Amino acid sequence: MAGSYNIFVLVKQVPDQGSKAGLNPDGTIDRAKAKRMLNPFDRYALQAALHTKRTYGGTVTTISMGPPPAVEVLLEALEHGVDRGYLLSDRRLAASDTLATAYALFKTVNYAGKPDIIFCGLQTTDGDTAQVGPQLAERLNFPQITYCEDFSIEDGKVHARRIIEGGTQKVVTEMPVLVTVANSYHQLEYKSFRGTWRVQQLQRNPEELKKYIQTIDLDVIGADPDRCGLKGSPTIVAWTDKVGEIGGNCQMHEGNAPENLVKEVIAGSNVKDYLVVTH
Ligand SMILES: Cc1cc2nc3c(=O)[nH]c(=O)nc-3n(C[C@H](O)[C@H](O)[C@H](O)COP(=O)(O)OP(=O)(O)OC[C@H]3O[C@@H](n4cnc5c(N)ncnc54)[C@H](O)[C@@H]3O)c2cc1C
Repeated sequence: MAGSYNIFVLVKQVPDQGSKAGLNPDGTIDRAKAKRMLNPFDRYALQAALHTKRTYGGTVTTISMGPPPAVEVLLEALEHGVDRGYLLSDRRLAASDTLATAYALFKTVNYAGKPDIIFCGLQTTDGDTAQVGPQLAERLNFPQITYCEDFSIEDGKVHARRIIEGGTQKVVTEMPVLVTVANSYHQLEYKSFRGTWRVQQLQRNPEELKKYIQTIDLDVIGADPDRCGLKGSPTIVAWTDKVGEIGGNCQMHEGNAPENLVKEVIAGSNVKDYLVVTH
C-alpha cells in the first residue's frame, strides 16, 4: 500500500575491528587510535529503511549519537539515498551506558519528528549489548519487533518475520513501531555514483550541507544532562581482559572418532566427566 511514512534509522559509528584500536589504561576502548566505520549491523537497518521508502513511499531520517567524526556515517547514509540526518554530539554524553544512550536517543527522536517506523541494527560490534533498540522502544512506548528478517506493510499494518530460537515467528502490529533488523535481512545495496557525487558537492558547501545534516547537542533536544553520560549511567565496567594471542600453544588433533579425540584433548587435565554430542 502506498503511504508517506516517516522512517527513522539509527546508525552508530564503531571502531573498525580490523584496525588495532587497543585499550586505554582503564580498560576502555582507545577510540582515538581506531579507524572508524559504520556499525556493520546498521547496514541491514539502513537497507530496510531505504527499501521501505522505495516500496511504500516516505522519507528516511538517520540519527546517530557520537563524537563529531560520527558525521561520517550520516554522510555515508546520505550517499545511499537517505533524506536527512541528525548527529547528537555533546561532551556530556561521554561514558554513556545503554540506559543513558537510549534516553539521549529518545530525546533526539522526539526532536526530529514523529516516526512511523524506527529501524535499528540488531547490535553493535563495540558495545555489543543489543539493548539500545528495545530500551528506546520502551521509552517511546512503541511496540518492538526484534530480530526481524522480513518486513512489509499491508493495510497500514506492519507484517514481520522475526527469528526465534529454533524457528521464526510472524507478527503483525500497528505503527508506530521499532524494528531491530537481523543480519539475515538483505545486504545494503551499493551506493550510486549520483549519491556519492551529490554528497561530495554538499561537503564543499557547509551551509547547504546543514540543510541535510544537523549537529545538535543536549540543550537543543532538551535532555537532562544528569541522565546522560557518566552521571546517567548506572553500569560500571569492573574490569576488562585482553584476549591473549591465539596460536602459541595450539595443538591440532585429527581423526574421525569424536570420542577418541575428546579423550586425547582432556588427557592429563582435571576434566573428570564429559559428554560428546554429534549431529
Ligand atoms: C559503562 C559504559 C561506558 C561507556 N562509555 C563510552 C564512552 O565513553 N564513549 C563511547 O563512545 N562509548 C561508550 N560506551 C559505549 C556506548 O555508550 C554504547 O555503545 C552505547 O550505550 C550503545 O550500546 P551498544 O553499543 O551495546 O548498542 P546496541 O544496543 O548493541 O545497539 C543496537 C542498535 O542501536 C542503535 N544504536 C546504538 N548506539 C547508538 C548510537 N550511539 N547512535 C545511534 N544509534 C545507536 C544502532 O541501530 C545499533 O545497531 C560505554 C558503554 C558502557 C556500558
